Amino acid sequence: MITVAEAQEAIWQAIQSRSPTCVDLGEALGRILSQDVASDIDSPPHDKSLVDGYAVIAADLDGGSAQLAMLEEVTAGQVPRHRVVSGKTTRIMTGAPLPAGADAVVMIEDTHVESDVDSHIAFQTSARPGQHIMRRGASIRRGQKVLHSGRRIRPIEIGLLAEAGVSQVPVYAQPSVAVLATGNELTPSDTVPTAGQIRNSNGPMMQALVHRAGGRTVDLGIARDDPEDLSRRIDAGLDCDVLVLSGGVSAGVLDLVPRILAERGVRQVFHKVRLKPGKPLWFGISPRNDGDTLVFGLPGNPVSTLVCFELFVRPAVARIGGCTHDEERLQSGQLASELRHRSDRPTYFPARCSLADGTWLIEPLNWQGSADLATLAQADCLLQLPAGDHTFAAGEAVRVFML
Ligand code: AMP
Ligand code: MG
Repeated sequence: MITVAEAQEAIWQAIQSRSPTCVDLGEALGRILSQDVASDIDSPPHDKSLVDGYAVIAADLDGGSAQLAMLEEVTAGQVPRHRVVSGKTTRIMTGAPLPAGADAVVMIEDTHVESDVDSHIAFQTSARPGQHIMRRGASIRRGQKVLHSGRRIRPIEIGLLAEAGVSQVPVYAQPSVAVLATGNELTPSDTVPTAGQIRNSNGPMMQALVHRAGGRTVDLGIARDDPEDLSRRIDAGLDCDVLVLSGGVSAGVLDLVPRILAERGVRQVFHKVRLKPGKPLWFGISPRNDGDTLVFGLPGNPVSTLVCFELFVRPAVARIGGCTHDEERLQSGQLASELRHRSDRPTYFPARCSLADGTWLIEPLNWQGSADLATLAQADCLLQLPAGDHTFAAGEAVRVFML
């Protein structure tokens, strides 16, 4: 059986990224940039005041106090008309362009108006040249690359793209990901299971996982453990960049998925990984005219489904979508309490982490195995445990995979 790292490497080898396209800025959240992008202007575009106050010549306040005559008032969006010369000042609001001649701004709180007519301002402070001023281009220079290709666009990047004048954003086309739950026992979540049935939790969970991974979900519903139904739905999924199935990949009499996938022309790359939960994972490739379809047969138990998705499918979807920066998911921490664990495979064990004095404390949960999604819902990480029969002491150094 291959290791998790070997399985991941085999998957990464099969990845082809999608072609570049363009979307409106309002549609760009979560997408991956397909080109470096540069700003078409300096930012800020003018020297600007960072406070509400008065624009002055700093040397005028060398004595620690002064009285200066008011020239004009400039608010954000206006343009100063007068040059500040010695003995004069301009009232300026945050964000307004600095008038020519001025080299500092004094905060309004350090001044007061001398007369009723607002014509003279008294300063009870000195000023340092440059104070409370942001110079033109201090943040971004015209032509400067502000974001690089392969980067996922978060709300921060949306703001930065807007600042840089990028209203049409170059991104990679979104991977299409077909999702298919398999099993005779499955019933939709809006029904009450009758004898022998269980609700299809994997279908909606996989759709949500695809969405978060940056893919566009194509819902193929529930396939019965029946060659014809499976073949029909699998064929529909093979038009997509990725097909993810759950269930039917173990050794049961109705675990038909690997056989039907082979019949539909999907070439198996591996079946089974040294991993708990998730051992029956199946992976293959199906050629299409415009690139291959990667096919993941995830084990049916929901915790196995989730662990396999996070370890293998999510990074694959991100890479197909052009993402070149893998998220860092591994953290080091200390076990909060003793744990006895025995397994023939490396295990990803649901746990909670909390920060105490700069160290992550990892508390394993009372997990009932790969069908126990309710306990997984309380977890924020998966504790990585080696194969074998071990007792891990409280305080021992451990590694976790963040969810
Ligand atoms: P299988 O891999 O098909 O043998 O399924 C393993 C276990 O996972 C069985 O107990 C199934 O009933 C359960 N299971 C399979 N598919 C789903 C699903 N979509 N939602 C919830 N449980 C499932
Ligand atoms: Mg099944």
